[in-house]
Order: sequence, then C-alpha cells, then structure tokens
Amino acid sequence: MTREQVFEFFRRLAEENPSPTTELEYENPYTLLVAVVLSAQATDASVNIATRPLFEHVKTPEQMVSLGETKVRDAIKTIGLFNTKAKNVIALSEALIRDHGSKVPGSREELEKLPGVGRKTANVVLNTAFHEETFAVDTHIFRVCNRTGLAPGKDVLKVELKLEKVVPQPFRLNAHHWLILHGRYICKARKPECWRCPVIDLCRYKPKTPEPGSKASASRNASPRSSAVRTGKAQKPRTP
Ligand code: SF4
Repeated sequence: MTREQVFEFFRRLAEENPSPTTELEYENPYTLLVAVVLSAQATDASVNIATRPLFEHVKTPEQMVSLGETKVRDAIKTIGLFNTKAKNVIALSEALIRDHGSKVPGSREELEKLPGVGRKTANVVLNTAFHEETFAVDTHIFRVCNRTGLAPGKDVLKVELKLEKVVPQPFRLNAHHWLILHGRYICKARKPECWRCPVIDLCRYKPKTPEPGSKASASRNASPRSSAVRTGKAQKPRTP
C-alpha cells in the first residue's frame, strides 16, 4: 500500500469506530495485566466470564496472592491453560509486590521479566494502560496485515516492526485496536466479509468474498471449482 492508502485505511476504520479499546474487562493496570496474561490462546469473551467475578474481590497483587493459587485456578478453570496461567498470575503478583511496589511497571523490559508476560502482552499493557504507541500483533492483526498488504511479514515480530514504520499519526495509538476489531468482526479467518468491508478498495486480497445471496455468491456456490478451472490459476488466500 502507498502512504496515502495506509492513511485512508486507518481514516476509514477510525471513522467507523472513533474510540476503540480492548474488549477485555479490567479495573486498573494490574487487572488489565492479569486479563491479558489470561487471554493467551483464549478469547476475550471467555476471559471476561472468568474475571468478572474474580475482579469484584481481587484488584491488587496482594489480594491475588492472599487468594492463593488453588482458588485462582478454580476461578479461571474455564480458560485454556488454566494451570500454567494460575501459577503465572500468582508469580507475577509476587514479583510486582517484591520488585515494583505493587505497581505495574511502565517499561517493556520490566514487563517482559514478569512470569507469563511476553512481547505481545507487554505491548497491550503499554498501549492500553500507559498510552504508548505500541502494536500488539495477535492472530487477527497478523492475518489482516498480510491479507491487505498493509504490513506483510512472515512472523508477528516482522509485522509489528512493519506497522511501526508505516502507521501514520494520528492513528498510531489506536491502530492495533482497529486492526484487531477489523480482523475479529469483518476480516474473519475462515471467510472475510469483504462485501461489508470499509477498506475493500484498498485491500489487495483476492478473491473478495461476495455478499451472501448475491449473483456472484450464487455462482461461486454453484460451481466451487469454476474460478480455478476458468482461469487455470487458483489463488490461495494467504490466511495464517
Ligand atoms: S476486503 Fe476482505 S480481505 Fe480485504 S480487509 Fe476487507 S474483509 Fe479483509
């Protein structure tokens, strides 16, 4: 994409949703950090179901440590990898009390030293709690960036560094939220909903998904092999 196209891409996403934010529910930077740690390989919705009752009573590292690993495990048992995550939540809470005066540190280096906290988690916390212009590349952002041509890359770090380079102001702070939401609700993994996509003309992905019930959709459904057979060159969507 050209610089003008990238600007237009974000301008349109921003127009549709001027104040995007994380869908994870949290009370303060500490509960945000816990929620993001719990969200690894889990949906935000599933994390919210588990944390809603937990965060009613637990809002600080001290309260989490007092609750203890067994009860934390019980509270999050509906989330994948709950055993490891319960251990990490207790260990990171102890580390915050011991090394950071019970506060969430605002530097990537210190965040990444905490148990269960990797680069993506640090990026989310830095962006959402500390308003830094970071780009937390998850599966949705990775897919959208590669499909559209916005910031193609073979791994999440390459995509993140590309986003660092190409995303202009005034969109840098919220870019990763717009991209996640776009990937989650429109540019879906199995079948992107191109027919209702606000950036369809800027995106290089082909073939675009036609509107269900339209003539194009009907002809594709009637003859699934037709496009490849007609042209002789089937184009594989580059879905990660
Ligand atoms: S046009 Fe389709 S593939 Fe491209 S960004 Fe929109 S939904 Fe995704």
